[in-house]
Amino acid sequence: MEQTTHAYFEGKIIPFTDAKISIATHGLNYGTAAFGGLRGYWNDDKKKLFIFRPMDHYRRFMLSAKILAMDLPHTPESLTRITLDLLKLDNWQQDVYVRPLCYKADAGIGVRLHDLRDEVSIFAIPFGAYGKNEDGAHVTMSSWRRVDDNVIPARGKISGAYANSALIKTDAIKAGFDEALVLDHNGHISEGTAMNVFMVRDGVLITPSVSDNILEGITRRTIIELAKKDLGLEVVERSIDRTEAIVCDELFMTGTAAQVMVVTSVDHRSVGDGKMGPITARLRDLFNEVVHGRVEKYNHWNVAVE
Ligand code: PMP
Repeated sequence: MEQTTHAYFEGKIIPFTDAKISIATHGLNYGTAAFGGLRGYWNDDKKKLFIFRPMDHYRRFMLSAKILAMDLPHTPESLTRITLDLLKLDNWQQDVYVRPLCYKADAGIGVRLHDLRDEVSIFAIPFGAYGKNEDGAHVTMSSWRRVDDNVIPARGKISGAYANSALIKTDAIKAGFDEALVLDHNGHISEGTAMNVFMVRDGVLITPSVSDNILEGITRRTIIELAKKDLGLEVVERSIDRTEAIVCDELFMTGTAAQVMVVTSVDHRSVGDGKMGPITARLRDLFNEVVHGRVEKYNHWNVAVE
């Protein structure tokens, strides 16, 4: 974190090391907070840092806040502006990850959502690859279930719900896997710990629908659009059974941090022929071009820090 010089905290941009909260903070004690995660990609030709789809990230951030009964004095536009100002001050010339957080900020005891002050903080850190991105990932089917919409909605990026993701991730890593797929209470595959999931069967791209206890990923939305418009693929959003992860032709996971991560085995059974499939490869390459601002028609997704 030593390279992070500034943070947005309690309504102002201040030195990062001054942005501190009490150990009695509600959001810290009860998980009554929600966050976002954006990437900034350094473009060396243009000598500029580009943030990928900030308005879409902040629209989802505002909806997560709404689920937690927060009424933030912000809009996606104002949060994007603050992020650009912050990144400009930090003067990054490399890829970064931006972490906005909204949290119940009062110090004290008493679990609830109402009658509490809400605050927003934002900071950025240098960020490269997350997880296995070059070779295929080996994943397991977690024995933990995904949080349900009637428990802690996965649709909101709610801090408390990440205890579920953390249980899943640590057990997967300790068992020797790179990541896990998680079943929801209906026994359908929902997503990974911080990634959505896609499979290819007979040339059709399939991903769980938004009512299958998933976070509505910005990368997911991007991949669906690229698959339809640029690859001319049929894309189906529907529930995915556990065994389909084994019998499908291709499997990959998507997220802002993970980008497009190919999965080559599930519980020691190879996916397809155990190598990255052609559709995954094309989508992964195209996504990489798009986020780096190298595809003209999608340049409106890349917002320059200036
Ligand atoms: N699911 C979960 C649980 C996540 O935490 C993330 C990461 N934000 C994703 C999916 C992917 O979402 P996005 O593409 O918007 O980063």
